[in-house]
Amino acid sequence: GTIALSDLDKLQVLGHGNGGTVYKVRHKRTEKLFALKVVHGDTDPIVRRQVFREMEILRRTDSPYIVQCHGIYEKPYGDIAILMEYMDYGALDTLLKKTGTFSESELAQVTSQILKGLSYLHAHKIIHRDIKPSNLLVNKTMQVKISDFGVSKIMCRTLDACNSYVGTCAYMSPERFDPDTYGGNYNGYAGDIWSLGLTLLELYLGHFPFLQPGQRPDWATLMCAICFGDPPSVPDGVSDEFRSFIECCLQKDSSKRWSASQLLTHPFVCKHSRCDC
Ligand code: ATP
Ligand code: MG
Repeated sequence: GTIALSDLDKLQVLGHGNGGTVYKVRHKRTEKLFALKVVHGDTDPIVRRQVFREMEILRRTDSPYIVQCHGIYEKPYGDIAILMEYMDYGALDTLLKKTGTFSESELAQVTSQILKGLSYLHAHKIIHRDIKPSNLLVNKTMQVKISDFGVSKIMCRTLDACNSYVGTCAYMSPERFDPDTYGGNYNGYAGDIWSLGLTLLELYLGHFPFLQPGQRPDWATLMCAICFGDPPSVPDGVSDEFRSFIECCLQKDSSKRWSASQLLTHPFVCKHSRCDC
């Protein structure tokens, strides 16, 4: 049945995103835990639009690799709330800080799940556009799920341009800054693959790949590095499979990047997991 907001007890704040607050809540009768994202009525219209976008996508998706939505609550100009499954280990950025960098085999398990989520989304013509550690949630069985669809895009036509400046700049692909040089935006899906490559490299290195450990991001420098520099690469000592996988993601020319479903057959993923290919 449907869950009413009055059936829930707020336990604690899990985190603040830009615009909304995510609470850990408990269903009174069943004691089941959920995450509730609340955006207040007086928030900026742009943020409200993002929440409506997120609700639209969560309504359309049903996959074990996408965070599940259990309810949507809205008042025309009042608070908006989304009830989601509770991911008890939090996001991958928190896990990285808490337990340190990931080994190749841990990373391969994570990668295979994110790729299944991305290939589901892309098959449903949804581009996430904000893949990064803080938007990938984990539970205690090490299931990894994609969340946060505030800046995602539903492709209506296949040749839809999607070059608006949304999402976190740091994880944005070269073609989002400069479509003419880097393969155009005809394949917006490839932007998610670039962000995935950076995310995995960050989980392996322990710091954002375009910056030195502890270096503070300066957006102009970062944008120049993404557009004019070589793509980040893996350090010496990693396996050939991991090196090759990262290279398949971090091609500056978007048309040379592998798709999510191609990457699911890559040896890096197959070697470490019961693979379906
Ligand atoms: P941004 O606004 O830049 O995307 P963010 O990803 O941190 O930042 P939110 O998506 O609003 O912001 O989420 C805030 C935090 O709440 C997340 O980082 C995560 O730790 C936590 N969180 C979100 N959804 C859940 C969930 N379903 N289960 C557990 N924790 C969650
Ligand atoms: Mg987020």
